[in-house]
Amino acid sequence: MDEATPGSTTINRAPPREFGAADRTLLVDPFGRDISYLRVSVTDRCDFRCVYCMAENMAFLPKADVLSLEELDRLCSAFVARGVRKLRLTGGEPLVRRGIMTLVGSLSRHLRTGALDELTLTTNGSQLTKYAQELKDHGVRRLNVSLDTLDPDKFRAITRWGSLDQVLTGIDAAQAAGLKVKINVVALKGVNDGELPQLIEWAHGRGMDLTVIEVMPLGEIGEGRLDQYLPLSMVRARLEERFTLEDVDYRTGGPARYVRVAETGGRLGFITPLTHNFCESCNRVRVTCTGTLYMCLGQEDAADLRKPLRASEGNDLLFAAIDEAIARKPKGHDFIIDRRHKRPALARHMSVTGG
Ligand code: SAM
Repeated sequence: MDEATPGSTTINRAPPREFGAADRTLLVDPFGRDISYLRVSVTDRCDFRCVYCMAENMAFLPKADVLSLEELDRLCSAFVARGVRKLRLTGGEPLVRRGIMTLVGSLSRHLRTGALDELTLTTNGSQLTKYAQELKDHGVRRLNVSLDTLDPDKFRAITRWGSLDQVLTGIDAAQAAGLKVKINVVALKGVNDGELPQLIEWAHGRGMDLTVIEVMPLGEIGEGRLDQYLPLSMVRARLEERFTLEDVDYRTGGPARYVRVAETGGRLGFITPLTHNFCESCNRVRVTCTGTLYMCLGQEDAADLRKPLRASEGNDLLFAAIDEAIARKPKGHDFIIDRRHKRPALARHMSVTGG
């Protein structure tokens, strides 16, 4: 935190009907950034154990610490009341949370009232065969599906527990239901970097955008980060030997920067937290399934929203805690892979904060 004086500014706009007029203030951080995008990790559990994300033997949270579906709804709705226009459910794996469709269904009321522009999910795709149609029926239009390889053996090696077939069938189901799918690929040195052109051609051939993500130094995973890390500047240079990449203005409200691949006609995104800082335009905050609010993915500072949420039925304490936290949103992060000690920059796993 440096030049600007902390303190969140407020602007008026109509809140969802269930909230009073007194709640109609938008969240603006000390650097003038509108906080309009909330990512919520609805569970820390996952049916995969991706090598760059989790250790194989993860200890998961006790149930009492995790917010109930009703509490998650109340928390998300409070952010919507304060101007959040885009809500992304993530995890862990959001679709393994029991009763998840009840939450999606209930949050979809904010789409119908126009308070929310978008309700979306990031998923590993394993449960899409079961849930794609219901998601569509609840007003979800787009999904991000994480898929790092099309090779079944490699897929099993990366996810430790996953089945490629199950995910591909899930993607089929999502597209058949009319959901727009974007594929997220984490670039892993020596694992899937050689396969990126095929992944791009496959995704674009099926009408899906694809985004490449730089591996981030989050959480102890029991393997060397340096072995996985591949700067996207290098990935892009290699792709340019094969494809013509044309810069485009397209934005989805997230951190990806897009190009159009002339040969396929599809869009290709890059998320580059390490080689390129995207913090200036950061409109996001993240809440974990225990109600911890992280104002920045790459910093440890956090605010406990579970206590004010559980302390009273009214939302005054909750709003006060949110305001106080947004007033501390840092200007940016500085992920560094600690080469000497081979430690992660942050002890927290991505599955805690949600990707
Ligand atoms: N289970 C869901 C999924 O697989 O998409 C949602 C949660 S997962 C944590 C969200 C995204 O974060 C996935 O695309 C995953 O590949 C990515 N991810 C996890 N750990 C990461 C890391 N250390 N660096 C970069 N991306 C990571």
